[in-house]
Amino acid sequence: MFELLDGPPYANGEAHTGHAINKILKDFIVKSKIGLGYRVRFRPGWDCHGLPIELKIGKQKETPAPQSFKEIRSAARIVADEAIGKQMNAFRRWGVTADWDKPYTTKSSKYVAAQLDIFGQLVEQKLVYRTFKPVYWSPSSNTALAESELEYNEKHQSTSVYFRFKLINVSSPEIIWSSIPPSKPSQFYALVWTTTPWTLPLNNAICVSPNIKYSVIQFEREINNPTSTYYIIASNLVSELEKQSEQKCRILGTVKSENLIGKKYKSCWHNELALPIYEAPHVSDTVGTGLVHTSFAHGFQDYDVAVSNGERIQSFVDSRGCYTRHLGHDLDGKHVLGDVIIRSSQQWFIDVEEIGKRASSMLDEITVSAGDSDLRGSLKQLVTTRNSWCISRQRVWGTPIPGLVDENGEAYTSRELIEWVADLTRKSGNTDVWWEVDLNKILENEDVRRSLKIPKDVIPQLKKNVDIMDVWLDSGLAWHAAKENEMEREHVTDVVLEGVDQFRGWFQSLLLTSVAVKNKLPYRKIIVHGFCIDEKNNKMSKSVGNVVDPILLTDGSLKQKAIGADGLRFWVALSGSENAGESKIGPKIIEDVDRKIVSLRNGFRFMIGGCQGFNGNPINSPLKTLDQDMLHSVDSFVKKTISNYEEFKFRTVANDLTQFIQRNFSSNYVKYVRDRLYCDKIGSESHLSAQFTLHRTAYSLAHIISPLLPHLSAEVLHHLPGSHEKQILRHTFMELQSEEKYYMPELSQLMKVVHELRTVLEASAGPKIDTSKKDIIVYVKPEQEKLLKTSELELPELLNVSGVELNESRDGISVEITDSKRRYCERCRKHTRKDGDNLCSRCFDALVV
Ligand SMILES: [Zn+2]
Repeated sequence: MFELLDGPPYANGEAHTGHAINKILKDFIVKSKIGLGYRVRFRPGWDCHGLPIELKIGKQKETPAPQSFKEIRSAARIVADEAIGKQMNAFRRWGVTADWDKPYTTKSSKYVAAQLDIFGQLVEQKLVYRTFKPVYWSPSSNTALAESELEYNEKHQSTSVYFRFKLINVSSPEIIWSSIPPSKPSQFYALVWTTTPWTLPLNNAICVSPNIKYSVIQFEREINNPTSTYYIIASNLVSELEKQSEQKCRILGTVKSENLIGKKYKSCWHNELALPIYEAPHVSDTVGTGLVHTSFAHGFQDYDVAVSNGERIQSFVDSRGCYTRHLGHDLDGKHVLGDVIIRSSQQWFIDVEEIGKRASSMLDEITVSAGDSDLRGSLKQLVTTRNSWCISRQRVWGTPIPGLVDENGEAYTSRELIEWVADLTRKSGNTDVWWEVDLNKILENEDVRRSLKIPKDVIPQLKKNVDIMDVWLDSGLAWHAAKENEMEREHVTDVVLEGVDQFRGWFQSLLLTSVAVKNKLPYRKIIVHGFCIDEKNNKMSKSVGNVVDPILLTDGSLKQKAIGADGLRFWVALSGSENAGESKIGPKIIEDVDRKIVSLRNGFRFMIGGCQGFNGNPINSPLKTLDQDMLHSVDSFVKKTISNYEEFKFRTVANDLTQFIQRNFSSNYVKYVRDRLYCDKIGSESHLSAQFTLHRTAYSLAHIISPLLPHLSAEVLHHLPGSHEKQILRHTFMELQSEEKYYMPELSQLMKVVHELRTVLEASAGPKIDTSKKDIIVYVKPEQEKLLKTSELELPELLNVSGVELNESRDGISVEITDSKRRYCERCRKHTRKDGDNLCSRCFDALVV
């Protein structure tokens, strides 16, 4: 049994080239595993919840925007179902084999209930908590976001500013002056630097580091002012300040960090407020000023500083992204102007610090790869640097977080409560139950109420928690919820295959939850693929207009030839596998793919054409040497391809196949066998030998390439005499090896000499002489002559000439080209006819009825 767990695509929008890479690569695995003899489980999935769908239904014009949770959830379900239908059609059109009758969707009651079961276990292990803490926040969508949901815009330049805070109790004696201390009245400022200027009114502290050297500087333009103004900044960052401010600075002395820690400065917003300078481990002097502006509610490290110094954390930015009245009349209600901000709010978290470390060490047991490159380090680093996972969202289209909350934000939940909701969901088939159920009904259940341990006095204030779960927790529990029963769950998924972006997403959420609940890895192997870009290395983007629609590729358009599902699949094999980098697509690349497919088709066409009249059964007579050589190279190709499939090297299989058809088949076989196939008597041993060889070659190749090109494979088998496309399902790739009895023992050595002779012959004939109409005199070493004698009568065919005279020579191989003494035969176009005959003896035999 082999199981591939489908990373569910998002159930929104049409199928695109990214889906094509992902689903077709998965299909290569499924189909090749079947060919390798495994029973395979692959259930397709869809990720259905989340913000993009919820935002979309708010914007639909035809109907009034849904208001109640019931309306929103039901409209969202329709959007997801429509997208699932469209995407499933496309995936099937691409020839993807999967359990299409039993897909899993994260919105189904079965999935939601199974997800809640596991969530209950996480709660029981005390890994889930609710607290007031900074999280990424989207003011426009009014909800917390996960880091993996942020879209990084590499070209984005953030506004950064230098800002000065007036120091209160730092004075001249604490400075180590390089020359005479100043005599003028002086004022010291701490210089900070920030990329989020909107947080300056929310400043709570400045952080410095004992490991950094600080300088006291003065701007040259201020030297003659009546009061001396000094700035404190990390010594390493003075020149950067000069560059950025285009101002010359003078360094007048230094100050030790211990003379700064514990000092106070004036708040920039509340005039009467003195704020502290703290020491913090995250402060560095690689960028900024080495003095870090700190706003407890609006930064992750800032939050840690508050916790370690016992400070209170308050947020004065509301959920819409506006300053609250606490900041006074000037800012009240003004927007902070960020698409995504960091803001503290009450959220649910999973504590993943210890789990991440455990998971990281377990990762040594498995492989994380793209082709030959090992990417385990990236995943290890990501899971060990994470300490909490914000799993709540303030929306309604999702799986609920069953829990009760009191007026102070204190939360009460338990495994009993969650399982009670899971059971209700499972039994009713209704995923809205949490929103519908009455609070009193929850509290009426004795077991549930007792498990929640609610103090009596807060019972009247209780409310149901209405946050939903982060979608990464939905899909992250697929190792449990996407499986039908306990037997399926026993089997650890063999492979997951997704884009390189899933290091931040699904690979991680599967890993953390499985290690937390089962103390077991959720998969045995991770395979990574890259993204689609155009021929000029640009990302696919609607606004650039370079998006390639996979339906136009397969089905064609006015401007573009249809390359069919197999064309799309061959592109994926050639461009989408074995690397985590980009997969290019564009007209030139598609043309190249098409050319390669055409050459494969031509190869198969020749094989099928040569088999006309042949019944496909094994033959009893011995095979010709040339045929043995062909079948032998088919055997090696099959063997090599099996091992490439085992290592998921689909690009190598595709390239090998193209080369095999061009070199081994066309150049080394077709060119030589043509004469026998066209001119020998039909039904003769020599003719049957060629037909048998072509038949076996076509069958073996069609079978072994069926994971990559299933349509071409089926077409070949359909036309090949005595075979049927369904035949390949009954046989494994291993059964494609030909029996030893077909080969003479000295085949390889003999063919080695033949290949040497072909090279020498080609060199001495040059491009103008058609050697098939010539006789040749061959000189070879005695041991080579002995080998060639075993197939002496076949030498004209093996060397594609009219006649061969074999001679022994101590000097090694050489060839003389001569005119034949025999006459030209009109039928076979060789010099094989005796003087006086109409045809050569072979052609005469072939025509005798
Ligand atoms: Zn002839």
